[in-house]
Amino acid sequence: ILEARGITKSFGGHEALRGVDLAAHRGDVVAVIGPSGSGKSTFLRCLNFLEKPSGGQVILDGEIFAAADFSGRSHQHRGRLIKLRRRVGMVFQSFNLWPHRTALGNVMEGLTQVLNMPASEAKERAQELLNKVGLASHAGHYPAQLSGGQQQRVAIARTLATEPEVLLFDEPTSALDPELVGEVLSVIQALAREGRTMLVVTHEIGFARDVATKVVFMADGAVQERGSPEDVLRQSQSPTLRAFLSRFR
Ligand code: ATP
Ligand code: MG
Repeated sequence: ILEARGITKSFGGHEALRGVDLAAHRGDVVAVIGPSGSGKSTFLRCLNFLEKPSGGQVILDGEIFAAADFSGRSHQHRGRLIKLRRRVGMVFQSFNLWPHRTALGNVMEGLTQVLNMPASEAKERAQELLNKVGLASHAGHYPAQLSGGQQQRVAIARTLATEPEVLLFDEPTSALDPELVGEVLSVIQALAREGRTMLVVTHEIGFARDVATKVVFMADGAVQERGSPEDVLRQSQSPTLRAFLSRFR
């Protein structure tokens, strides 16, 4: 469903991505691991063109988004990218909720603004999504009145609202206190069980082992190892990967 071919990205003279290939099939949960600065976030952002790749292609259900095609700022390009971002939804480390809107309001936003859904229908749908992430009774709370874990679950509900085909999570639990990590991971795990296609950048190695169908290890802007959780997390002989994993034991 989602494929990346030869994605490169340079910032000034610095090559943050040096040709990354990746394929996620329907229902795949791909865990992306790797040291700080290895390019994980940049790669995820390139997948929905939040960051424009310097080279390469993103292919979503056969539709090709080539970096070279998006050099200008034409109206038509903008339209295609907005559609791409709706189909490939992103959940950020820092939640990014609107502080002056309630949980319900935050989830309704995409429904009314992006899908032009009437408010009453959007409200009903947003409430369903809050139920799904276990926040049925917190619809009227503002972000400041929610814990980090609850805020992140609202952010997940908001991303689900526009029904993306692929979900990208960039370290969804690393801004959370340790006791709140579990509730967010269980929501993500439940989404995995529904058969959703997801890429999750994470430092939660246990989550990668238990939930992921594929694990990708990035270092220095490239994929160093990829395979099943068993292959990558247990069997790999790569010294870089072993050194990285030893920090989590
Ligand atoms: P972390 O685990 O710390 O989140 P990461 O693997 O997500 O790291 P990236 O944030 O993708 O790493 O960064 C990869 C490289 O690209 C780093 O060297 C970083 O300094 C550089 N970089 C990322 N974004 C920018 C930017 N907007 N401008 C310049 N350099 C950037
Ligand atoms: Mg990052």
